[in-house]
Amino acid sequence: MTDNQHIMEKVVALAKRRGFIFPGSEIYGGLSGTWDYGPLGTLMKQHLKQEFWKAHTHERDDIVGLDAAIFMHPKVWEASGHTEAFSDPLVECKICHQRFRADHPEELKAHEDMHAGKKEKTEWTDPKTFNLLVAAELGSVEGEKMKVYLRGEITQGVHVNFKNVLDSTRVKIPFGVVQIGKAFRNEITPGNFLFRMREFEQMELQYFVPPDQAESMQWFEYWKNERMQWYMSLGMRPEKLRFREHEPDERAHYARAAWDIEYDTPFGGWKEMLGIHHRGDWDLKRHSQFSGADLSYFDEASKTRYTPWVIETSGGVDRALLFFLLDAYREEGERVILKLHPKLAPYKAAVFPLLANKPHLVEKARQIFKDLKSKDMNIAWDDRGNIGKRYYSQDEIGTPWCITIDFQTLEDDTVTVRDRDTAKQERIVVLDLSQFLEEKMR
Ligand code: ATP
Repeated sequence: MTDNQHIMEKVVALAKRRGFIFPGSEIYGGLSGTWDYGPLGTLMKQHLKQEFWKAHTHERDDIVGLDAAIFMHPKVWEASGHTEAFSDPLVECKICHQRFRADHPEELKAHEDMHAGKKEKTEWTDPKTFNLLVAAELGSVEGEKMKVYLRGEITQGVHVNFKNVLDSTRVKIPFGVVQIGKAFRNEITPGNFLFRMREFEQMELQYFVPPDQAESMQWFEYWKNERMQWYMSLGMRPEKLRFREHEPDERAHYARAAWDIEYDTPFGGWKEMLGIHHRGDWDLKRHSQFSGADLSYFDEASKTRYTPWVIETSGGVDRALLFFLLDAYREEGERVILKLHPKLAPYKAAVFPLLANKPHLVEKARQIFKDLKSKDMNIAWDDRGNIGKRYYSQDEIGTPWCITIDFQTLEDDTVTVRDRDTAKQERIVVLDLSQFLEEKMR
């Protein structure tokens, strides 16, 4: 096994052991392509989503938020082209009947090698197209139930609400709509932990621009670079990231331009983390055609009416979280450290009383713990074992700072703050603690 495969296995094991991510429905033997977030994973995922949300709605005034339903009218998927074209080519191994994506040669090769190892010769069925939409039934009367789909991407919720957003807010083109939410795909080969799931979350921006080639491409370049900066601003190492332009034959049916941001993974190298797509007026025009609604825009400045074009950035929440975990994983001697950016770390700090059997220390530590928590920060508490063990335990889950309350604290109201990455300690006045943490987190 290579070092890279080891890292993936270690991260999966750590995620389970420390309560980041558990296999879905584990006590029933699991359910392929589903994963459950544990107490720490839930915090980390919330932080990731909050950062994405804040970067758009709080820090800008040209973007608004939306949270559309998972069930949508079946016509939505006809209009968007998903019922027709949202499919992957599937082949089946004639020996063991396992199914694979025909367009993933490395998976086919691995399977052929596995059989070759057993002196068997693999034969594949002809590729069949396999639609990825997950169907469900709505309604209470048997025989009158409506077949619907769980949304295969969150994008369409924005396009079907285009007019609602225009009518209910004061947005003017160029403007964006940001959304975070679940999507469902009947993936043929779910796998590689959070990389390919059947239920996952997406975080997206649909940015509406005038229908002008030069201007729209300027926005395309702008969002492409913004996205790269965003992942790096949360600590992802630049050498692990790259842009890749789609080949003409891999572009989605609607895309005028399409690039991915890829991450250099330990399971087969560069893999897509996020897509940036120039969708033109495909979605609004199709929904207008299928629903009969007028989804055009009147531009007050130029006194013209047009259907806007849209630049989309679409990234997976879970997939990014996996890459952030892999990127942060380090071993230094015996010590395992998750060097997560403080904004993403489940806990911003941990508070320890030096000794658990000294009531004065514990009481003081509890008070500091409560004060920090009241500042809207997730803080851990640990009073087990010795300080060294507690540091190791917090390093492993990425807690950036450990605060120890000792006998000196009772005399001069200072505490030791130990930094996860440098292991250096400094003494800080208790009253300055929250400001210290807030400043470090910027
Ligand atoms: P892939 O080629 O990996 O199947 P895609 O090109 O179909 O991905 P998009 O439809 O562009 O993906 O979806 C946007 C983002 O949603 C992807 O960049 C990825 O981060 C995330 N995503 C897509 N499918 C999955 C999945 N099955 N599990 C987890 N995340 C996913």
